[in-house]
Amino acid sequence: MRLDKFIAENTGLTRSQAAKALRAGQVKVNGELEKSTSRKITPEDTICFDDEPLTWTEAGQYFMLYKPQNCICSHDDGEYPTVFQFFDYPLMSKLHCAGRLDADTTGLVLLTDDGKWSHRITSPKHHCEKTYLVTLADPVEDFYGEKLAEGLWLRGEKTITKPAQLEILDDYNVNLTISEGRYHQVKRMFAALGNKVVALHRWRVGDVVLDEQLTEGEFRALTPDEIASFL
Ligand code: URA
Repeated sequence: MRLDKFIAENTGLTRSQAAKALRAGQVKVNGELEKSTSRKITPEDTICFDDEPLTWTEAGQYFMLYKPQNCICSHDDGEYPTVFQFFDYPLMSKLHCAGRLDADTTGLVLLTDDGKWSHRITSPKHHCEKTYLVTLADPVEDFYGEKLAEGLWLRGEKTITKPAQLEILDDYNVNLTISEGRYHQVKRMFAALGNKVVALHRWRVGDVVLDEQLTEGEFRALTPDEIASFL
């Protein structure tokens, strides 16, 4: 791993702040001052930041979070707090989301520090299914199921959406299963059908279902079977 990345992940600094700290002489590798951001390090190296040793943790942490509304799935500071607020430092700075939800969408978010694993979930090649409970502004119409299964043209897109499965629960509530992750996809699919999504909740990703024991803002580690289900 590059030294600047390691410093950023283990101190909460951004990558550019970590680079600055390196250049300012705040970092030692195996007791020697090191200023090169691109220096490659391994778990055998001892890294000190301001003379405090930083601990090396292996990649391989996997969680499910029940995301509440009004938080975002990226590390960027913006209008909303992030989903990483629910985790302690330094873990929070190492994790990323395996597939994002909009700020106003609730439900299942998978988080990990394992980029290869999250790629299995987010890469379009793997067609990972996600199921959303969707609440609509207007009653669901009979033709929706067929149109969603056929695929829809979304404004500004070059290809139609992949077949999606609709399960009607009542006049205003449906389960929709999709196997892609286009921008605001579910909202745009129902907009293309002439309706509007008023609430969106993801409860399944692949074979992993949001744990009913979790309440909003709570998370738990994934089980070995849940982790392996994406491999
Ligand atoms: N589709 C959306 O429109 N929003 C989400 O958060 C997820 C899927």
